Amino acid sequence: MSSSKITYLNKNKKKDYLYILDIDGTLIDSGGAGRKSMEKACESLFGQTIKLNAKDVAGRTDSYIFKHILKKIYPKNRFSVDLTEFKTVYIRNLLEELRDKPTNYLKGAREFTDFLEKSSGYTPALLTGNFKKAAKIKLKEIADKFEFGAYGDIKTNRNDLFFDALGLYQKKYNKNPDKTVVIGDTPFDIECAIKGNAISVAVSTGPYSKEDLKAADFVLEDLSQWPSLLESI
Ligand SMILES: [Mg+2]
Repeated sequence: MSSSKITYLNKNKKKDYLYILDIDGTLIDSGGAGRKSMEKACESLFGQTIKLNAKDVAGRTDSYIFKHILKKIYPKNRFSVDLTEFKTVYIRNLLEELRDKPTNYLKGAREFTDFLEKSSGYTPALLTGNFKKAAKIKLKEIADKFEFGAYGDIKTNRNDLFFDALGLYQKKYNKNPDKTVVIGDTPFDIECAIKGNAISVAVSTGPYSKEDLKAADFVLEDLSQWPSLLESI
């Protein structure tokens, strides 16, 4: 379907739909840059070699991952390592990892975010486990297409971020969206949508298969299927 047809379809759209998108595995594939940067941070801060696999981190908030790492390193002790220090080292490593590397936007991601940004009646937002700074570093030039975002800086539970995102919408527009759609690549994204009474859309461009994601209202191969998704919602 051509984008001109989409514009026509939505020309008289009066309702406001809030589209909340995840980053890793949904909009981009950073090739494990986040994991590598965390592993390096553990090496330099704790002198420990930690191995994180894709499913250890997918759908989790950065604060959750950090706490999970600390539990692995200090299983018996109460720990008092400051998240701020970890964040600083992690962000520095991430900048280094991604410097001079072109961003690998997943299929349909750029076109879809362009459409949401330019079309009236749609509010594009982010809901990501990434620290806010990490989200900007990873998204590069498409970061500004989103009106606001809920990030994993403090909260360890992704579901709580949904209410942060909704709250930001309510604060900005002084009303509730007519429909809210959550798009992500993990069962955690689906759970988050369900907890928020939102429409869940899963994409199989992350570490989970379509079968793993079948609990979603809509399961897509990738974001290039956005025109038919918009018609269905
Ligand atoms: Mg993801």
